[in-house]
Amino acid sequence: SVDRLPEIQEARLRLPVLAEEQVIMEAVRENHFVVLCGETGSGKTTQVPQFLYEAGYASGTGIIGVTEPRRVAAVSMSHRVAKEMNLSTGVVSYQIRYEGNVTSDTKIKFMTDGVLLKEIQKDFLLQRYSVIIIDEAHERSVYTDILIGLLSRIVPLRNKKGLPMKLIVMSATLRVEDFTENRKLFPTPPPVIKVEARQFPVSVHFNKRTPLEDYTGEVFRKTCKIHRMLPPGGILVFLTGQAEVHSVCRRLRRAFPFRRGNTATGEGEEAATDSSDEMKKFKKAKHKRTVSLPRIDLDNYSALPVDEGDEDRLAGIDDEGSDLELGDDAADTEEKADPSLPLYVLPLYSLLAPEQQAKVFRPPPHGARLCVVATNVAETSLTIPGIKYVVDCGRVKKRFYDRVTGVSSFKVSWTAQASANQRAGRAGRTEPGHCYRLYSSAVFGDFSLFSEAEITRRPVEDLVLQMKDLNIDKVVNFPFPTTPSAEALVAAEQLLVSLGALEEPPRTGRVKEMERARLSCPISPLGRAMASFPVSPRYAKMLALGKQQDCLPYVIAVVAAMTVREIFEDLDRPAGSEDESSKLAQRRARLAQMRRLWAGQGASLLLGDLMVLLGAVGACEFAGCTFKFCEENGLRYKAMLEIRRLRGQLTNAVNSVCPEVGVFVDCKMAPPTESQVACLRQIVLAGLGDHLARRVQQEELLDPKWRNAYKTPLLDEPVYIHPSSALFKTLPQFVVYQEVLETTKMYMRGVSAVEPEWVP
Ligand code: ADP
Ligand code: MG
Repeated sequence: SVDRLPEIQEARLRLPVLAEEQVIMEAVRENHFVVLCGETGSGKTTQVPQFLYEAGYASGTGIIGVTEPRRVAAVSMSHRVAKEMNLSTGVVSYQIRYEGNVTSDTKIKFMTDGVLLKEIQKDFLLQRYSVIIIDEAHERSVYTDILIGLLSRIVPLRNKKGLPMKLIVMSATLRVEDFTENRKLFPTPPPVIKVEARQFPVSVHFNKRTPLEDYTGEVFRKTCKIHRMLPPGGILVFLTGQAEVHSVCRRLRRAFPFRRGNTATGEGEEAATDSSDEMKKFKKAKHKRTVSLPRIDLDNYSALPVDEGDEDRLAGIDDEGSDLELGDDAADTEEKADPSLPLYVLPLYSLLAPEQQAKVFRPPPHGARLCVVATNVAETSLTIPGIKYVVDCGRVKKRFYDRVTGVSSFKVSWTAQASANQRAGRAGRTEPGHCYRLYSSAVFGDFSLFSEAEITRRPVEDLVLQMKDLNIDKVVNFPFPTTPSAEALVAAEQLLVSLGALEEPPRTGRVKEMERARLSCPISPLGRAMASFPVSPRYAKMLALGKQQDCLPYVIAVVAAMTVREIFEDLDRPAGSEDESSKLAQRRARLAQMRRLWAGQGASLLLGDLMVLLGAVGACEFAGCTFKFCEENGLRYKAMLEIRRLRGQLTNAVNSVCPEVGVFVDCKMAPPTESQVACLRQIVLAGLGDHLARRVQQEELLDPKWRNAYKTPLLDEPVYIHPSSALFKTLPQFVVYQEVLETTKMYMRGVSAVEPEWVP
């Protein structure tokens, strides 16, 4: 029934998973749950949905759902499968947080895991689906883990009701015991099918020494050496974030200039096409748009505050010093530009525009060697063809949370052995390959064997609230593949109780904290309303309060801006040239000026950084949210578009919870009045009450590190107001903050002033 092109069919036949089609489909027929393990590139993601389609799993009313932890994969794989099956994207579609191309004809739907979780809240039985594939389960993303837990209950329920449903869990590693050996999850272990991949041997070369400082420099030098000395074959480089990827790309392009016709494929050109594409898209959008903002489709909204792509979005902010040396021309003089050895250099990271991403799958121009410089998206989500050499820096950038204090920081740390081996494996897909590890074998020996499940590393209040809303009261008893720490669950319940989302636990004498968690507080009506807002509980609380004094439109705008994060462009990035450097300086000055303007005057100053957000959103929307306005004023265009969508979405969500407020998105929103500012500050305090900080008193100033510092209840260390903050000069006695992020110091972000008499 599927009419594939001959060359597609030929390529499919070479994929190891095709040899197992019978075995897989038989297991799926005979079992409710099946686990499928296969090396990256064996064809799991692209082929298994097609097997199911051909076996008729989408021929009735139910469709095939596939979840991915990364947006990149959901988008790119839906396109690939549509192409392989010769079907339109209206049939093989995708849905990610804010966008998608799902139609009523959709038969195979790729989505991020957060999207499916949100659908479960609307229809616990997921009746639209006849089968769900959870892909990349080895990544152990929080949503994946929870989905597996939920589906372990949903699938038997469905089958009991005579509405057959299947679950397939796919993993790139053989380490699936957390799923198969967990009796709480699956009382009878599901069958595990292993696909033997045709993997060529990869020789692994360790460095004798491990560069601790300039590892990106080492990456650059090793890549140059491979390109100069070794036979043809693609090079895949693993780095930790977008900023590093770009600087190494820039250095490689300078060392091995590559010209197609007479257009350079340098950074400049790419940036130009990027922005003109954006402009084109924008013009198209504007054409369709009448005066008011686009109406948002209520069914089209997805997610919990998903952190997808964070590792890239925030890549710049703690990189301050570490990347500067890369922009340094002195470092490049060692590599004379050599146009006789063209190298076709492509970046790859999760926030890269899809057209740019797609380039890595195409063969490089004739006579040039392919070199993809990637973050760990290339580890298992995307298989790049023709790679013979892998250069592995051995590191990964992750967000770390302090469970007790809630302080988060992005840190580059060593990766796990399993990840390093995955990276090495990328070199042996088409022929024997080589992997260059830029660290010693002793250092490798010290890596942890596997990376920890994400759920054990982050706060869980959003998940707990969502689960309570699904009437899962005893969260500790939920069949998690890996249960979050009792500490994290207690902290989450306490926060939710303090926000009023959960009922106060009964005060029967002195109940220990651990026992209290097991008592499991039920969700309150306020909690139900909060759970329906697609933002984290602190912000949901603000929305729930926003009705007073007509503050709701402002609260919605501020919450949207706080949720999207990083609305300002990173203008501190290293400049590629002197010209760029002076342009950046100009733009920095302009942004600083605008921030002062947006912060307002008098009373509104006290709303601090949140007033700056509100002012920026208001001004940008007033100007029509154009690329030009963002570019000129130091705002990230993509972030502003996301804020616009989220504002619409939150407005609809608020209206559906309390229709009487009749709030709408006003693109000509007047600044808040003085009394509204005071009201907004209290609303912010109600949501961020546990993020209160007090400026240190004179008598505490014994140690100079406490100068201009703030004290918070949870931290022993001083925290500071960042120089870029609107309240840096004011230094109010009390403030609340959005989060503390540790960079060079512990800085509060999103600071707003609190009147002393409001402090509980
Ligand atoms: P797995 O999920 O097992 O890692 P995939 O199904 O993602 O494997 O990949 C199977 C093959 O399809 C790989 O060889 C990969 O290079 C190829 N492939 C995937 N996406 C594309 C694409 N957009 N263009 C060309 N080839 C692709
Ligand atoms: Mg895959």
